[in-house]
Amino acid sequence: MQGGLQGVANVLSQVACLFLMCDARDLGAHPEIRAPHTGAPTVYVYERYPGGVGMSARLFEIAGTVLGAAHDLVSQCGCESGCPSCVGPALEVGEQGKAVATRLLELAALAPVR
Ligand SMILES: [Zn+2]
Repeated sequence: MQGGLQGVANVLSQVACLFLMCDARDLGAHPEIRAPHTGAPTVYVYERYPGGVGMSARLFEIAGTVLGAAHDLVSQCGCESGCPSCVGPALEVGEQGKAVATRLLELAALAPVR
């Protein structure tokens, strides 16, 4: 699960930047197996600027689109178990990281974004 969540965090931070037209260094993403605020596996995507500059609000509005694009990117990537173009290298996310990330992104498309 940890590798899959890390993979989701990796791909979401990259895909979100495309939709927000910002630099990859403008956003951060942090996975937690059991986040205290949700009690469930959670990926936090946040602005690196203290107080934010409005990217988070926009990202919340388009979350479903971003999650769908992230799922498409991962599921259509030709790698077997993760690469820097999708969820990150298998050495970082584990051998099952890509498969778990793909499933998590499928489930995220069905769940409300909080
Ligand atoms: Zn890949």
